[in-house]
Amino acid sequence: MALKLFNTLSRSVQEFIPLDPSGKNVGLYCCGPTVYDFAHIGNWRTFVFGDLVRRTLEFKGHAVTHVMNITDVEDKIIKRVRETKTSLREFTGKYEAAFLEDLDRLNCRKPTVMPRATEHIKEIISLIEKLIQRGVAYQAADGSVYFSIEKYRGCGCAYGRLLKLNFDELRAGERVKSDEYAKESAADFALWKARVPEDGDIFWPGPWGEGRPGWHIECSAMSLKVLGDSFDLHLGGEDLIFPHHEDEIAQSEGATGKPFVKYWLHGAFLLVEGKKMSKSLGNFFTLRDLLAKGFTGREIRYLLLTAHYRETFNFTLEGLQGAHTALARIDECVGKLREIIGTPASGTAQSDSQPAVPEAGAPTDLLARFAAALDDDLNISAAWAAVFEWVRETNKRIAENSLNASDAASALAAWEKVDSVLGIGTKSGTEIPAEILALAEARTAAKKAKDFKRADAIRDELKAKGWAIEDTPKGPKLKKI
Ligand code: AMP
Ligand code: ZN
Repeated sequence: MALKLFNTLSRSVQEFIPLDPSGKNVGLYCCGPTVYDFAHIGNWRTFVFGDLVRRTLEFKGHAVTHVMNITDVEDKIIKRVRETKTSLREFTGKYEAAFLEDLDRLNCRKPTVMPRATEHIKEIISLIEKLIQRGVAYQAADGSVYFSIEKYRGCGCAYGRLLKLNFDELRAGERVKSDEYAKESAADFALWKARVPEDGDIFWPGPWGEGRPGWHIECSAMSLKVLGDSFDLHLGGEDLIFPHHEDEIAQSEGATGKPFVKYWLHGAFLLVEGKKMSKSLGNFFTLRDLLAKGFTGREIRYLLLTAHYRETFNFTLEGLQGAHTALARIDECVGKLREIIGTPASGTAQSDSQPAVPEAGAPTDLLARFAAALDDDLNISAAWAAVFEWVRETNKRIAENSLNASDAASALAAWEKVDSVLGIGTKSGTEIPAEILALAEARTAAKKAKDFKRADAIRDELKAKGWAIEDTPKGPKLKKI
């Protein structure tokens, strides 16, 4: 079955057909974090949505090049660097590292490439030069370089295709220098911002004098470099439609003369307790705030994945409690299947593998219903309904004693395939502390070195910490005693 997705460009649900004639390779660009603070739970909704898109494509057999940039120079960052009196790299490095840690805690697959804006100044400059050569960018009296919307439209190009703009209301020739602006002030936007004293030492030499790139050109330069002039999918939160994505299209198509992106996907916003997240309302949560309250990454991931990506989602702490209960139902069922098969819990951090589903006796219903739900513009409610009906049915069969080891293995394999998209793992797989995993690895290393005395000592140490280690043909497995 074909995957259908809502394309903001056409404002309709369309069949996803990759640009690659073989249909195999897919290029996906997700606008990444602006590393000026810890990412909040709203940001995470969008990044988990990006992970869902990527995993769905991989589930369907595509080879995905997933690019997520790191915005490590823009207006907000420069302001904070000035306030905190740190260096740019020191400041952004801290939040970039935190972002990667959080990405892992939410079990998002690491993007294939994560380019930093500051490492693409050369590409940014040559893209701006191309725009000047093509007559759609110009240097203004303030020394900055701007994109000319009028010249761009004069070449027969359309500006404002994602968001219908009324050009009669826009004043031609006006300029906007800040990275973020509202559609009422749609105007020529900055590509290269001439150095000003407030920038401190954050500037690069350029053909137009010292300065720094605008935010929008960063994404155009990095996506064109890694994915080529035209690629399949571009994704972000709905607030990025204007001006960020609109400007990305103008810059990229203005420079290459080719269609930039085939499908634009936008995730709806997350509200907290029915309101916009704000520090003053006390409803502002970073992922770390929630972990500190005792919730787990998988509970948060589960909750973020319960709503359809195009619907506003109301995040509540009560919802997180509900996530705990829902996951416990899945864990219990999967645990019972493992018992029937007689294999202890896997020692890996999460069941992120994509095992082949056995031909005979596989619970094709779960897989078929799950896959059909995803194909329907990522209909996640229908996907979860398929999962929980399968849990109910499987529990019933277990209670009736009508599930043998081979049936259980098929059921488990189907669940693991489903979980290759959901990425929630199971409790037994997720909760092995890093310290225990490190001990298990040390024991394997000791055995390899034929240091059996040390291997036995580590086994005892693990036992004292409440973990049994068992050697299986597939390698050592950890089990909570
Ligand atoms: P930023 O780090 O500010 O560039 O934002 C990273 C991503 O989070 C972007 O794709 C934004 O559209 C998205 N985003 C920001 N706030 C929210 C929110 N409340 N709900 C969902 N996505 C959001
Ligand atoms: Zn971007």
